[in-house]
Amino acid sequence: MAQKLAARRVAYREQMPARFAAIRDAWEALQRGTGDPTEVSYELIRQVHNISGSAGTFGLGPVGEKARALEQFLVGLDSKVGGASGEATDEFERGFAQLKALFDATPSELLPNTVPTIDGAPPDGGAAARIYIVEDDPVQGREIAEQLQAFGWETTVFADSASMERALLGRCDPAAFVIDMALPEGMLAGGPLMRRIAESLGRHVPQIVISAHWDWSSRLEAVRAGAAAYMVKPIDFGLLAERLDAVTRRQVEAPVRVLIVDDTRLLAEHFAQVLTDAGMHANVLSDPTRILDALVEFDADVILMDLFMPGCTGIEAARVIRQDPKFTTVPILFLSTETSRQARLEAIAIGADDFMHKPIADTDLILAVTARARRFRALSSLVRQDSLTGLLNHISLKLQLESEIERCRRSGTSLAFVMLDLDHFKQVNDTYGHPVGDQVIRTISQLLRSRLRKSDVVGRYGGEEFAVLMPDTGIGGATAIVESLREQFASIGMVGGQTHFHCTFSAGIAVVPPATSMDALIQAADVALYEAKRTGRNRVCAAART
Ligand code: GH3
Ligand code: MG
Ligand code: MG
Repeated sequence: MAQKLAARRVAYREQMPARFAAIRDAWEALQRGTGDPTEVSYELIRQVHNISGSAGTFGLGPVGEKARALEQFLVGLDSKVGGASGEATDEFERGFAQLKALFDATPSELLPNTVPTIDGAPPDGGAAARIYIVEDDPVQGREIAEQLQAFGWETTVFADSASMERALLGRCDPAAFVIDMALPEGMLAGGPLMRRIAESLGRHVPQIVISAHWDWSSRLEAVRAGAAAYMVKPIDFGLLAERLDAVTRRQVEAPVRVLIVDDTRLLAEHFAQVLTDAGMHANVLSDPTRILDALVEFDADVILMDLFMPGCTGIEAARVIRQDPKFTTVPILFLSTETSRQARLEAIAIGADDFMHKPIADTDLILAVTARARRFRALSSLVRQDSLTGLLNHISLKLQLESEIERCRRSGTSLAFVMLDLDHFKQVNDTYGHPVGDQVIRTISQLLRSRLRKSDVVGRYGGEEFAVLMPDTGIGGATAIVESLREQFASIGMVGGQTHFHCTFSAGIAVVPPATSMDALIQAADVALYEAKRTGRNRVCAAART
């Protein structure tokens, strides 16, 4: 990072003479009265502003401060009058000469590193996704292993504590343990085993206790041994998979996505680097006229926007963004050296979320962006997610589908749309009760979440109907994936009363192209789903290629 920063500093210095020349040109044009005075003075202020906002970041703090003073002076001038008074001209010349002198006086090899280094390693979800299971009953052990495999876990089963402890001596890296409390050594032997595991690993690896009974002494022993969860047999595998995800944080939060709109390329790249190093995804846009497309393509959690840009101001760009109903809530942080009360009020009026003053310390930038993104995500998830399953709700799914189709059209790739419906689900409710039905819905949600790619979008389309969008996937690929999901789902043991039972789903798949509109795509998938139901259920049908 230090090297990249140094390289950017050199590049920044190299483009300064051109900037100075542009300032000189604009000032002279203003005095001669060439060009539209409003535009020329805007350009002049923008150039100076650019330096005041970026110099500090590249180790030229005093130059930045000088530029800020010059900018304030220029903003105070009544540009529309045309040629400035002799007094004003003198003041500009003095300020401008000082600015250049300060720049020349800062030797590049002595540039102080004013940028604090950040310690923001991204959370890595890449730990080995293997679960160690200790279960003395071989039939149950195998069943737990197979069930967890359906949810995407690797598993190793041990029939007793000794063989598991031997495995711990070798090279092993389980993400979590599932331990039966009652082992051949005793009814509460799981507890001491858990303590020995923790000691021998020397680090925290979550342990989940399973037990044949709901009895006080084994629950207490589990708590004392540090269990992350306690589950009574028959095990609800959907719930176990959910708990394992939660304790191992396998469903890591997706990185924050930041769109940086700033015509000062180097500065924008610097911000992008800082945010990327802190584990975020940053995208730089230097042309504000492309902002709506960029938002559709990039799906930003936060927009960082410069106030002064060529073509339009940041406030104007923000107005355009806010006019689109899709983007009325995405946070906009303005970056500026602008301190005028008027500009702040204008920014707040159009829904700006904050105003940050350049130069900005890296840590401040990271904190501000993270805080806004968190809030944005929390609020949008309330609106966007279904409360039982945490999947996208009907409306958001359709919004997402709309933008995926649009993206597909532009990039010429294909998109698969899958509709899934649980088979004879009314019977499940009638036989086991509504709460058990709810748990089945959560289980299939958990399966879809854990088995599909990060880029796939999963939603609860209706009561016991689900939809999946698979970008860059054709009919063949989608059918293969859904086929394997179908088999996995059918193999999962759901808990009803004291026994396990099984559920199935039917699915219909359609793709863009040949479908072109959202309605046509949904209709085609629906017809295919109906076909799957009609021809016996527990099957996957693809839409006819017409
Ligand atoms: P098919 O194979 O034809 O799809 O039969 P089905 O019984 O699944 O279809 P039907 O549409 O007749 O019944 C769907 C049932 O799903 C009825 C409804 O009570 C139940 N259901 C819908 N949403 C929920 C929910 O959130 N929780 C529970 N427990 N049941 C739900
Ligand atoms: Mg239905
Ligand atoms: Mg159904």
